[in-house]
Amino acid sequence: MDFRFSNEEEGFRQEVREFLRKEVTPQVREEADSGIGWGPHIWELVHKLGARGLLTPTWPKEFGGLGLPSVYRFIVHEELDYAEALPHEALTVGAGVAGPTIMLYGSAEQKKAYLPRIARGEIEFALGYTEPQAGSDLASLQLRAEERGDHFIFNGQKVFNTRCHFAQYHWIAARTDVSEPKHRGISLFIVDLSSPGITLRPLWGIDGTRTNEVFYDNVMVPKDNLVGEKNRGFYYTVTALEFERVLSVGRLTKTFEELVHYVNKTPSLRKDGLVRQQVAQIATEIEVAKLFVYRLAWLQTNRTVANYEAAASKLFSSELSQRMAATGMEIMGLLGLLQKDSGKAPMEGKFEYLVRETLLNTIAGGTSEVMRNIIATRGLDLPR
Ligand SMILES: Cc1cc2nc3c(=O)[nH]c(=O)nc-3n(C[C@H](O)[C@H](O)[C@H](O)COP(=O)(O)OP(=O)(O)OC[C@H]3O[C@@H](n4cnc5c(N)ncnc54)[C@H](O)[C@@H]3O)c2cc1C
Repeated sequence: MDFRFSNEEEGFRQEVREFLRKEVTPQVREEADSGIGWGPHIWELVHKLGARGLLTPTWPKEFGGLGLPSVYRFIVHEELDYAEALPHEALTVGAGVAGPTIMLYGSAEQKKAYLPRIARGEIEFALGYTEPQAGSDLASLQLRAEERGDHFIFNGQKVFNTRCHFAQYHWIAARTDVSEPKHRGISLFIVDLSSPGITLRPLWGIDGTRTNEVFYDNVMVPKDNLVGEKNRGFYYTVTALEFERVLSVGRLTKTFEELVHYVNKTPSLRKDGLVRQQVAQIATEIEVAKLFVYRLAWLQTNRTVANYEAAASKLFSSELSQRMAATGMEIMGLLGLLQKDSGKAPMEGKFEYLVRETLLNTIAGGTSEVMRNIIATRGLDLPR
């Protein structure tokens, strides 16, 4: 057992950190905090990450990657997360979900058309899974894709499709066969979000971030945009969700360090025995969360299936983020309720925001209950 990163891995981490210190400008942070998604400054950062191969460090060189083991992807992810560079999650959907699935199941043309552009940070995808009647139970989705000549015609609705207003492509699961049992009639497609017949309607979250309802009204999608085999999409989607669960506690750690700094410089708090207990508890839990994600990175580097370990890590980190937000709020008391622009908010209102923001952590990307189900069935062999 060896808990250290190698010298090469540490050297790589320092390079990434140095790069982010220069490139994550106040404008990038402001955009990341604004809730509107990626604007020009984040796109510029994504282009620069792409130019260095940092969006896709583990991809083969022929597709624009660096050909490195999985642990390097984890290191980039953790540093991006620590630098609070991108809103909510550090990975792009293109590099983290669409690209790896195209690499596994896509056609030669799709690989050529999308992978190098994802690697260069030129394009982004929006996840198009959830529908009003299909969230945790994704196999119930109804958005219909009917074959007509050399096209599919799409009709239906998605909801909570977060990146659609700034991504170029929809990574969308649609029903292609109504006669088969529900999970056997779903296919995965790449849809150009500027196609006629697509309408977006913004949904604003409690944390002020935008997600979307997406309506498809007779949208023509070329058959070439089907990913892999028709009606196998549900299985590809499950694989893709595994890619999504590359986790890090970078942001959690950064925010916690700031909280400790705040406590230390506030005379009424730094010697308070109760506050000391509270921060020591969170410090311990962050260590646990870190070990969970490091183990996951190690399992993935060794190409071991890690679905229930990923679920346990997601469950623990997301619930910990809420515990930490609540702890910060308790420590700050009434002042903690003030918002950023009030002028008197401790830590510029970070914890007031965090309490609202972390609510989504136990829903998006799979709820805590679903994570517990995965641990019970795949980890503990309990029946479905
Ligand atoms: C901010 C945000 C961004 C999102 N972005 C995207 C996106 O970009 N693309 C996308 O496709 N989706 C996105 N989602 C949707 C997200 O994946 C779903 O909200 C999530 O999977 C839960 O589905 P649901 O909302 O339909 O809730 P439901 O599935 O209806 O669940 C309701 C409740 O029932 C519980 N539950 C459901 N099934 C079980 C079960 N079998 N056992 C025990 N309990 C159960 C759940 O845990 C939950 O508490 C986003 C969601 C949020 C909040």
